[in-house]
Amino acid sequence: MIRGPRLLLLGKQGAGKGTQASLLAEHYGVTHLATGEVLRAAARSGTRFGLEAKRYMDEGELVPDDITVGVVEERFGDNGELEHGFVLDGFPRTAAQAEELARILGEHDLDLVVALEVPTEVVLDRLAGRRVCKDCGAIYHVSAPPEHPWDCDVCGGEVVQRDDDQEDAIKRRLELYEQETQPLIAYYRAQAVLVDIDGVGETEVVFSRLVDAVDGKYERRAGAPA
Ligand code: ADP
Ligand code: ZN
Repeated sequence: MIRGPRLLLLGKQGAGKGTQASLLAEHYGVTHLATGEVLRAAARSGTRFGLEAKRYMDEGELVPDDITVGVVEERFGDNGELEHGFVLDGFPRTAAQAEELARILGEHDLDLVVALEVPTEVVLDRLAGRRVCKDCGAIYHVSAPPEHPWDCDVCGGEVVQRDDDQEDAIKRRLELYEQETQPLIAYYRAQAVLVDIDGVGETEVVFSRLVDAVDGKYERRAGAPA
């Protein structure tokens, strides 16, 4: 059966995970699951768990595992994404979440985990200038605004600065990345599913590096004994 890839993107805040994950999902015809996006949407619609999550997000803290694991389980529960492929972005962020993910995936192993590498000085500039569409999550930068500032090119929604893209919250998020999420790179490397990709450069250039890595992995798999 033909299916799309099961991909996971790891990288610092501002490394470009969201942008690249959505391009990859479109390219391979699979679902993009960004836990941060789902949580922000829940916060906007004012559900109880959304409002609880927002308290953590605005401070740059991690949302408790029961909420984020619940988001992923709900999404992978009955929609066939596990079969058809997906791009996961923003989950897992802790060793405990990585264990939960392995449980949720069962025999549907990840095809590839990408560590998107970008130096801290670059992500600081990207985050401080980042603007996002309130309605669809499309990402812009003060140096690359939508055609009619600040109305989203995709959906016409209002493009704003995220509450957690303020200086203190950015600092805290990068600190948590280093403590909690960076160790997952070694965890997936040990499982031989990890590839390092340079995340510096034009969006299209980084995207083609990613596609090469994913396609290379597929060719190897197609040529391997079952
Ligand atoms: P970034 O990676 O730039 O922080 P995201 O949109 O991926 O942006 O996430 C925004 C916020 O949502 C995080 O700072 C965190 O509070 C929360 N969040 C998203 N995914 C998770 C997760 N897997 N575990 C805990 N919190 C999460
Ligand atoms: Zn939009």
